Amino acid sequence: MKNNKIKRRKFITDTTKAGIALAFVPSFLKAQQANTLIKEIDFTQQPLAYGYKDLEPYIDAATMEIHYTKHAAGYAKNLNDAVKEEYRNANAPFIESILNEISRYSAKMRNNAGGHYNHELFWQLLTPTSTGKPTGKLAEAINSTFGSVENCKKLFSDAALKRFGSGWAWLINTKDGLKITSTPNQDNPLMDIAETKGYPILGLDVWEHAYYLKYQNKRGEYINNWWNIVNWNVVEKRFDMGLK
Ligand code: MN
Repeated sequence: MKNNKIKRRKFITDTTKAGIALAFVPSFLKAQQANTLIKEIDFTQQPLAYGYKDLEPYIDAATMEIHYTKHAAGYAKNLNDAVKEEYRNANAPFIESILNEISRYSAKMRNNAGGHYNHELFWQLLTPTSTGKPTGKLAEAINSTFGSVENCKKLFSDAALKRFGSGWAWLINTKDGLKITSTPNQDNPLMDIAETKGYPILGLDVWEHAYYLKYQNKRGEYINNWWNIVNWNVVEKRFDMGLK
C-alpha cells in the first residue's frame, strides 16, 4: 500500500510536469489545498464516514451494507484487475483521466472505473446530518440556472425517475454552467462518451440494488427520501473548486 502511494505520487508529479489536461477535472493540487472535506477518489475503496444504519430511515442498513461490501467492492476489485490488464508496464493515471478517455479502453474498464468512481463519490455525498439545502455560491448558481432550489430538485428527481433501467442522475458543472443529466449503467459525465459532459457535483444511484430491499418498485419514493441525506457541504465544495 505504501509503495503504491509513493508510485502514485511520482506519477502525479510526472504528469503535472507533462501538463496533461483533464477536460472536466479541477486540479488535484488545488483541490487538496482547498479543503479536506472532499476525499480524492483513487483506485481503492475508502471507509464510509458513517455507519450502515446511520442513514435510516431513508436508506436502510441492510441495503447500505450489501451495496458497500458487495456491489461497490466488486467494482473496486474489477477496476484493479482491469488496470493490471491494461497497464502492464506503467502506473495507472488518475481515475478521472481514464474516465475522460474511456472510449480507448475495454468494456470492463468502462463498467468498473465508472462503477468505482460513482460509488466512491456517492458515499461522500451522503450524510446523516444533512443541512437540507445548498447555500452560498452554489445556491446562487442553482437559483439563476433553474429558478429555485425546489425546481432544481424537481428536474433532478425527474431525470432520476425517468432513467430507464439502471443508471445515475447527475448535477454537473460545465463551462456553460450547471446542468442536470443522467447516464445509463455505470457511465458518468466525466466520460468522453457521455451525451452531456461535465464535472459531477451531485449524483444519485438509481440501480435497483440501491433501493429495492426497502422501496421495491417505488423508485420515486427512494428519490424523494434521498434528498434528506444529501451532504450539501460536499456538493458546495465540488462546485467551489470550479473547472480547470
Ligand atoms: Mn450502486
